[in-house]
Amino acid sequence: MIALSEATVDDVRRQLDAWGYKPSHAPGLLRHYYRNGGEFLPPYPLWPEGLRERLLAHWPPASSTAILRQVAEDGTVKVLRRLQDGRTVECVLMPDYRGDRAAGCLSSQVGCAMGCDFCATTKSGYERNLTSGEMVEQVLALRREAASVGRRLQTLVFMGMGEPMLNLDAVMDAIRRVAGNELGGLGWRQVTVSTVGIIPGIERLADSGLGVHLAVSLHAPDDATRARLLPAGRRFLLADILAAADRYQARTGRPVTLQYCLLRGVNDSEAQAQTLAALVGERRMHVNLLRYNPTGLSLQGVNYLPSDAATEVRFITVLRQAGVVAHGRRSRGREIDAACGQLRRRLGGAEIPSDAAKAAATFAEH
Ligand code: SF4
Repeated sequence: MIALSEATVDDVRRQLDAWGYKPSHAPGLLRHYYRNGGEFLPPYPLWPEGLRERLLAHWPPASSTAILRQVAEDGTVKVLRRLQDGRTVECVLMPDYRGDRAAGCLSSQVGCAMGCDFCATTKSGYERNLTSGEMVEQVLALRREAASVGRRLQTLVFMGMGEPMLNLDAVMDAIRRVAGNELGGLGWRQVTVSTVGIIPGIERLADSGLGVHLAVSLHAPDDATRARLLPAGRRFLLADILAAADRYQARTGRPVTLQYCLLRGVNDSEAQAQTLAALVGERRMHVNLLRYNPTGLSLQGVNYLPSDAATEVRFITVLRQAGVVAHGRRSRGREIDAACGQLRRRLGGAEIPSDAAKAAATFAEH
């Protein structure tokens, strides 16, 4: 059975017509579903008698189910969702410093084929692409999660499990639904797509006209170090990636963010900060320094560690002295397996503990 998260307005229009209801109800009905976190209640007054029940019988509100929920002291919430085929994916809600807002982090694939050496997701390999509906369901779940603590889901980033550029059709479809005014209404500027630097994907996203933000993960200032950390770095060189980012910025008018995860003794020296500053040069791009959440032994058997605070400050200072706009991003939810793929990997095929399942059940309505 197909869930409502997969349905287009045209699908709903056709079905209403087939049932003898006015097809013109379709956009309002789907909008109601998107803006109420996937809830199909209550029927608003204009809905014809019996329509809600028929819709629920035809299209269940979701095909995936929350099976585990972890809450960190800082309010970060990580949710593990089981898909119809039994696979699992993660999504995360991160409270903003403004008390009424929150940001969501979405997965675009089950597992990942990119093989970034410090990443937990890729350790269990790639399984499959998510459908646009499965991504929409993560957004709706995070909307409910945010509403439950008096916040509004304000921004979204595709930075969870998977490389969004390798599932770009479905990612763009999900973005159109959740960000466009017709349905989700979040706004294009509220969405960021993050990539390890898949240039054809960057070009396609620029051409799409969606006008979302782009974040590019560099993680090293030179191709040799980068290729050791990110196998994609062997195919896509830094100079070419930055040229694609330049074109993205020129085409969309959206400033590109450069992500750089500081790893102790690997990419965090002053010399590397200077090389990074030279690479960014005069570009009006923002460097976002991420704090690493350790994930145990890497694919290559390395035990990566986060840089210490003094090193991070020194690194930022070098960048800023060279005129680069740089910020350190706080690490979120460290005690709850918040690095992408960590929670899923830790559970593996294990049974969900009953107290966790019970906690999830209070959250998971579908
Ligand atoms: S960091 Fe992202 S792209 Fe790299 S392996 Fe992990 S999920 Fe995939």
